[in-house]
Amino acid sequence: MRETALLAWYAEAHRRLPWRTEVSAYRTLVSELMCQQTRVETVLPYFERFMDAFPTVEALADAPTEAVLTRWAGLGYYSRARNLQRAAQAVVAGGGFPRTVAGLRALPGVGPYTAGAIASIVFGADEPVVDGNVERVLSRWYAQELPTVRWSWERARAVLAPGRAGEWNQALMELGARVCTPRAPRCGGCPVATGCLGRDSPERYPGVKLKKAVPRRRAVAACVLDDGRVLLVRRPEGGRLGGLWELPGAELDDHVQPDANALVAALRARLGLAAVVGAPLGTVAHTFSHLHLDTTVFAASLQSKPGSVASDALRWVHPAQADDLPLSTLARKTLGVCPGWAAR
Ligand code: SF4
Repeated sequence: MRETALLAWYAEAHRRLPWRTEVSAYRTLVSELMCQQTRVETVLPYFERFMDAFPTVEALADAPTEAVLTRWAGLGYYSRARNLQRAAQAVVAGGGFPRTVAGLRALPGVGPYTAGAIASIVFGADEPVVDGNVERVLSRWYAQELPTVRWSWERARAVLAPGRAGEWNQALMELGARVCTPRAPRCGGCPVATGCLGRDSPERYPGVKLKKAVPRRRAVAACVLDDGRVLLVRRPEGGRLGGLWELPGAELDDHVQPDANALVAALRARLGLAAVVGAPLGTVAHTFSHLHLDTTVFAASLQSKPGSVASDALRWVHPAQADDLPLSTLARKTLGVCPGWAAR
């Protein structure tokens, strides 16, 4: 029987992940938000460091946001970190975690998948989850091409193992991650191959969803050095990478060349800085989910004295202080072409 076979396989074969060996609503919330759009192997060291810094939901709720972003830096999708802290604050204000999907979904950043995961894994509720792995496994079991979101959730609920939904959901996800993989699924070693309608041509399912073309844009950034320190700017709250620190500069409109003139104009317009821009130091390519960005970094100096740069959003930073600031992966890449920083 499929249920028995899958649960037995999971009990034997599942990865011993830190949020599985010690289960709580808080740890499940953190791990699920970290794992969105991110591989488990990438998440592991971030999860451990995050738990060291914020071992309880109360600690996270009370922490300065910049400290939260610093521990998240490198994982990307920074709105997840902000929502996670807001969710922690809502939990503390409400006297504890809600136990139902509806209550959990009212928390910032918690969608149907995360709510279903916490409700089933932590509170034992008979609630399904659907992520990319679950969708793929179900579409193959039922030979369903191009499954809709609604179809996937209805199927996930229909196949749920009553009373063991938490294990069942994790088993489905684990099967998708380890056996029923997007390419070259290992049907020969699959515990639920019997009765799988897609087994003869698994890669046909769930079918190809057309992806939008990702645009390519250009940006310029300044490497301004003073006495071994570099000038960084904090991005405005709310937008992409909001609240994170980076080299001063700007993304350019398509018709603008990424040259010294563009950088001089951007520094003046965005930050009120008068700068002399020198030679290009290099161009850094970085891909976000929705955008390829090529950032050309220039050596630059300020016409005003470095000490006169005073703003909450501007800071002179020594390389040794970099680990205490939330820097995006792109910021670290661009810093990598600054003389002095590159050798760190
Ligand atoms: S038999 Fe193959 S396609 Fe079917 S669930 Fe197992 S791994 Fe996936």
